[in-house]
Amino acid sequence: PGTLYVVATPVGNLEDITFRAVRILKEVDLIAAEDTRHTRKLLQHFGIAKQLTSYFDHNKNLKGEYILGKLAAGQAVALVSDAGTPCISDPGYQLVRDAAAAGVPIVPIAGPCAAIAALSASGLPSDAFVFEGFLPSRRKKRLDKLASLKNEERLLILYESPKRLQDLLGDMLEVFGERQIVVARELSKVYEEFVRGSIAEVIASFAGREVRGELVVLVAAASSVAGCEGDSVEALLERYLFAEK
Ligand code: SAM
Repeated sequence: PGTLYVVATPVGNLEDITFRAVRILKEVDLIAAEDTRHTRKLLQHFGIAKQLTSYFDHNKNLKGEYILGKLAAGQAVALVSDAGTPCISDPGYQLVRDAAAAGVPIVPIAGPCAAIAALSASGLPSDAFVFEGFLPSRRKKRLDKLASLKNEERLLILYESPKRLQDLLGDMLEVFGERQIVVARELSKVYEEFVRGSIAEVIASFAGREVRGELVVLVAAASSVAGCEGDSVEALLERYLFAEK
């Protein structure tokens, strides 16, 4: 069979694409894209003229068969989504699963992912984290989900739309109580912004302005005290009790 390349593309700034991603996109026989118009613009920017086929949530069964057929016939196929890494709050999982089951080699071409970019610059303890993507948009389900995450001992990473940010933060304050959070907005774009603080502080900082663009919400773990994780008891004592005045 051919090879299925799972190719990460920029989440904003086009300079974030990797050399390897550009080469693979040039070399493959077919590119399966979430939105072909969107991906065509990306390809144009890098001077790549390539056959595109759409692969998104509502045609994934039919298109999956078609793409598996191409792979079985020995073609190299690249899977891309509109932004970032395929399969991360984006289509792709079923195709990768089925291709793997059919014995097709799967090669990840790693690169941008909004969750990881946000985490890396958040300043929150990042040793252990859980990614939940988008929480349910219906309030009841969202509250239930938050309740189930209340005692999570790892940092929580969420995606949210700007329209729902304040509702999410309000619900979070209600269910979790105060926590340190970071909202990362418009990563790698012109208006990139990190808002850090307690949930109430971040709510206040977004109040009275229209929230725009794309967002990642990071929530410190229930038990964490920012800056101390991983330190031994001795190190903590050293820092807080024996620190020079
Ligand atoms: N596959 C993508 C990835 O690897 O990050 C995520 C796709 S998901 C459909 C889109 C969501 O990702 C947005 O609603 C936002 O929460 C987050 N996102 C994508 N690009 C972003 C950016 N430049 N800045 C902040 N968040 C972003």
